[in-house]
Amino acid sequence: MNKIVIINEELCVGCGACTSLCPKQILYIDEKSVKCKVSDESKCDRLRGCEKVCPVSAIKIV
Ligand code: SF4
Ligand code: SF4
Repeated sequence: MNKIVIINEELCVGCGACTSLCPKQILYIDEKSVKCKVSDESKCDRLRGCEKVCPVSAIKIV
């Protein structure tokens, strides 16, 4: 399966802006690493809200 949501974990600061915005609730903060992770990306609407809200440009929708 092709990737849809790509998180650059080196850039991610775990702020949670994207997770609270995602209408499909497929983004979450991993408690251990404090980095954003993706659950079921097949539900992604590809409207790029997360990409726009991320303060460090760590998300790419492809
Ligand atoms: S593009 Fe939209 S649905 Fe997909 S991960 Fe980002 S906020 Fe969620
Ligand atoms: S908005 Fe960006 S920095 Fe914040 S948790 Fe999401 S991916 Fe990480």
